[in-house]
Amino acid sequence: MSSAATNTECLAWGAPGDKAAKRLLLLGSGELGKEVALEAMRLGLEVIAVDAYRNAPAMQVAHRSHTVDMLDGARIRALVEAEQPALIVPEVEAIATATLVELEQEGWNVIPTARATRLTMNREGIRRLAAEDLGLTTSPYRFAENREEYRDAVAQLGLPCVVKPIMSSSGKGQSLVREEAAIDAAWDYACTAGRGKDARVIVEGFVAFDTEITLLTVRAADGTHFCPPVGHRQEDGDYRESWQPCPLHPDTLAACQHMAAAVTEALGGWGLFGVELFIAGEPSQPQTVYFSEVSPRPHDTGMVTMISQNMSEFELHVRAITGLPIGDIILLQPAASAVILAPGSSEAPQFTGMAAALQVPTSKLRLFGKPRCHRNRRMGVALALGETVTIARDRARTCASKVQVLL
Ligand code: AMP
Repeated sequence: MSSAATNTECLAWGAPGDKAAKRLLLLGSGELGKEVALEAMRLGLEVIAVDAYRNAPAMQVAHRSHTVDMLDGARIRALVEAEQPALIVPEVEAIATATLVELEQEGWNVIPTARATRLTMNREGIRRLAAEDLGLTTSPYRFAENREEYRDAVAQLGLPCVVKPIMSSSGKGQSLVREEAAIDAAWDYACTAGRGKDARVIVEGFVAFDTEITLLTVRAADGTHFCPPVGHRQEDGDYRESWQPCPLHPDTLAACQHMAAAVTEALGGWGLFGVELFIAGEPSQPQTVYFSEVSPRPHDTGMVTMISQNMSEFELHVRAITGLPIGDIILLQPAASAVILAPGSSEAPQFTGMAAALQVPTSKLRLFGKPRCHRNRRMGVALALGETVTIARDRARTCASKVQVLL
């Protein structure tokens, strides 16, 4: 773990702006990056935020920012050479990962590792690592890069199946195909909505799971740590609400931790990872666990930890990547998050209803400050505690529903 070794050697840093400052170059400045930036600032790091558009959320709280196309390797290299960061911290998937691999070979510290960012940018890389190299249980799957291969894949896997571009997130280009008549439309959608230039898709057998969870897993100087499981509900491939803890049978929790340890160890480096797992069965009995995906960085569903734990996923990430110990992760109370989505497009969205929203007991709001929106863009999140997860979920949903995004 070369990045880990580098971290250990650098456990002294000066004030931001000083030549001994520890500079963190944040590649991706959305809502998750904003929280990472804030936590890094709390530990006295110098934060430089980067994204493809001006005034992105993390830019609003960083020491300085740059607006560049993050898939442009030459621009990323030029930025790294100019800023001389101690830590290069990718916060989104769509980055010039080949350049990160080169930079790491030259001695720059990419979090958690350049290989992890490359493998997880592409569904094929991480799926093959998990299923074929590590032997983890996943949905059955096939890859296809033209319509004929795609039809063969669907025929082999059967219906229903899930079709996704190999480079996409937040449900973009994803379809659940239930009937023959929908097969061709799913291919067309995956090809037009994916992030990459190639028409390459993964076709997955549909897993009839009962629960899906994110197991936030931290690799740090004092070992590997797990947060209590975060349950979540997705709609159209994107997260709508999450809660913690999510009840699991003890054997199931052990199986989840085993999978998360295996996949994060294979990716290597230090930092927090969001390991997404599907769980089939009820918690009264041992359940079946399927590995789905992993993000080598804080996870959107993990925003609930901003209220539920003694350390949020963002604080955990910053501690781990700076070489600091984690200690004990403590769940303070059952808690939930619910997203606030834009109802349509605007170049100058505004929020209203916050006063009513915060009438909900224990609730908190995070409004991300995104300067523009389109339909269903995530603009904020409501957080709440409860004596039970059910109470916390009701509160978070009620709080979120009171906030309106005006277009
Ligand atoms: P992903 O972008 O792969 O995380 O998929 C987004 C969401 O779609 C997941 O969180 C699940 O709710 C659902 N999904 C993805 N793949 C499958 C599958 N093979 N079977 C059932 N549901 C799935």
